Amino acid sequence: MTYADFYQESIRQPEKFWDREAQLIDWHRPYQQVLDTSRPPFARWFVGGETNLCHNAVDRWLRTQPDQPALIAISTETNTEKTYSFAELHAEVQRMAAIMQSLGVKQGDRVLIYMPMIAEAAFAMLACARIGAVHSVVFGGFASKSLATRIDDAQPVLIVSADAGMRGGKAVPYKPLLDDAIAAADHPPQHVLLVNRRLDTMNLVSGRDVDYTTLRAQHMDAQVPVTWLESNAMSYVLYTSGTTGKPKGVQRDVGGYAVALAASMKHIYCGNPGETYFATSDIGWVVGHSYIVYGPLIAGMATIMYEGTPIRPDAGIWWSIVEKYKVTRMFSAPTAIRVLKKHPPELMKKYDLSSLKALYLAGEPLDETTSDWIAGELGVPIIDNYWQTETGWPILSVARGVEHKDTRLGSPGVAMYGYNVCIINESTGAECGAGEKGVVAIRGPLPPGCMQTVYGDDQRFVNTYWSNFAQEQLYSTFDWGIRDADGYYFILGRTDDVINVAGHRLGTREIEESISSHAQVSEVAVVGVEDKLKGQVAVAFAILKHPELAATPEQKLALEGEVMAVVDRQLGAVARPSRVHFVTMLPKTRSGKLLRRSIQAICEGRDAGDLTTIEDPSSLTQIKAAVSA
Ligand code: ATP
Ligand code: MG
Repeated sequence: MTYADFYQESIRQPEKFWDREAQLIDWHRPYQQVLDTSRPPFARWFVGGETNLCHNAVDRWLRTQPDQPALIAISTETNTEKTYSFAELHAEVQRMAAIMQSLGVKQGDRVLIYMPMIAEAAFAMLACARIGAVHSVVFGGFASKSLATRIDDAQPVLIVSADAGMRGGKAVPYKPLLDDAIAAADHPPQHVLLVNRRLDTMNLVSGRDVDYTTLRAQHMDAQVPVTWLESNAMSYVLYTSGTTGKPKGVQRDVGGYAVALAASMKHIYCGNPGETYFATSDIGWVVGHSYIVYGPLIAGMATIMYEGTPIRPDAGIWWSIVEKYKVTRMFSAPTAIRVLKKHPPELMKKYDLSSLKALYLAGEPLDETTSDWIAGELGVPIIDNYWQTETGWPILSVARGVEHKDTRLGSPGVAMYGYNVCIINESTGAECGAGEKGVVAIRGPLPPGCMQTVYGDDQRFVNTYWSNFAQEQLYSTFDWGIRDADGYYFILGRTDDVINVAGHRLGTREIEESISSHAQVSEVAVVGVEDKLKGQVAVAFAILKHPELAATPEQKLALEGEVMAVVDRQLGAVARPSRVHFVTMLPKTRSGKLLRRSIQAICEGRDAGDLTTIEDPSSLTQIKAAVSA
């Protein structure tokens, strides 16, 4: 079957298509209906069927491969490494589930997980899934205010946390932030379960805080059977990154998600039981949910949970892991690859990477330079994928498991099966043809695995995602894009990253791509800045490959002129940035996303906003200095 046929079937006969894919997982009780769209835009998948994510990720493999590695927890921060087989993982998850039950957690209750990248975090997620509790993992990098907002939204009965995480060799305390957050929250949890890593001293609040090690010792032989859940029961709530504003609580189901992940592991990631998958993300993000914890395990693969940076002890660390554990599929983000690119390539050449079949990258636009470089170094296909917290799995990519489809530089790929992707003209609401720019939208119903709703707020789900075009009810991705004649999409930036210069609407991404084509530029951020005359102007912040070439004011000015000329030539004078500043670092979140919102705020003399997930605050100092110079 060609990919085109496969895709067409998924769109024209979704019930037939997904009925077949649903056979990739175990069902305790068969579903009566594949798809229920009686209340659009809400979609219910596999109605009446009963299954369980933990069963499919863990128990299911006990029969055939109990002693195969399931979870490999590596920390280059504490220099520890431990492999759990499926049987061992099963035992740990049952212990954790028994502890949760002993603390009063029941089916449907929320459990907030605020943890570093340690095995216990995965145990906690899987334990929730096992007993039908709803987990809400909050990224460990969030500080108390962001955490308090999420506590109040999820209203957990239990929070699972640890004394501290560790980053770059330094302990990062979690417990004090958690205590502050609970104090600030209107809905404090009944209990806090704490993993004591002995990285920081902890003050336990009596009656509320309990120690994991102590309780685990009491539940060594715990046997907690799987709670079978209706396919549309809630599995988890995960907040979006909040790159553009107030985070939304993405709520997901059980059956649809399990099927979607199993299908993606087969058709997109092509992973097989017994192989090892290495996603370098964090469990606090959607990639961590779908492709560190659930996806690989559902596919019977071993999954690596990595605590540490890509460059400690040196920039060869990831590749040494690939060699040691014979990783076949790796998943990362362009930003991490750009970090590696700054280090000597010999560190990579030291290792035997012959097990690796492909590297998948997602989360932000993949520029050609980065893609070419890593492809050259690794000698494996580099596969971009475009998706969102909301969708849980790729919207655009290449489904290598169905047919060998080629990647196209600059494009994350074609529409994945199940997603009826279209490009919509924002003002007319009409569908754009090939080569026409518009908003990337999806015709409902969304495929299995995507968000069910905004947690606790159906109306916000409808208003936010499904009410943006006059003509039709379409899911908006809030990204600009364009499709070429062969069906490859190109993402041009977020809809709120559009700059309106004297009535011309320009995507920041287009201007960035143009600037990046200048031989001296290694990375650039463009933002729209208020301007009395033109409404907005584009302002660029560029990182140079050789910063010494712009050491003097004269050199800077000359280079700025050159960059502007490139934009003039490629996009026209209207897109020319009013200023090109040279910096050595750009403000990014710890998940690698550019904080355009903050750059823009600084340029407009406003407060930089919520910076709790910023990677390095000194990047903003540079922006401030550049702007005020
Ligand atoms: P929020 O919605 O709270 O503002 P966010 O959109 O950054 O946060 P995520 O769901 O983590 O949160 O990110 C999804 C977004 O990341 C996409 O909508 C898109 O803008 C961008 N993105 C993801 N993958 C790619 C890719 N391969 N190429 C280009 N952009 C991508
Ligand atoms: Mg988003």
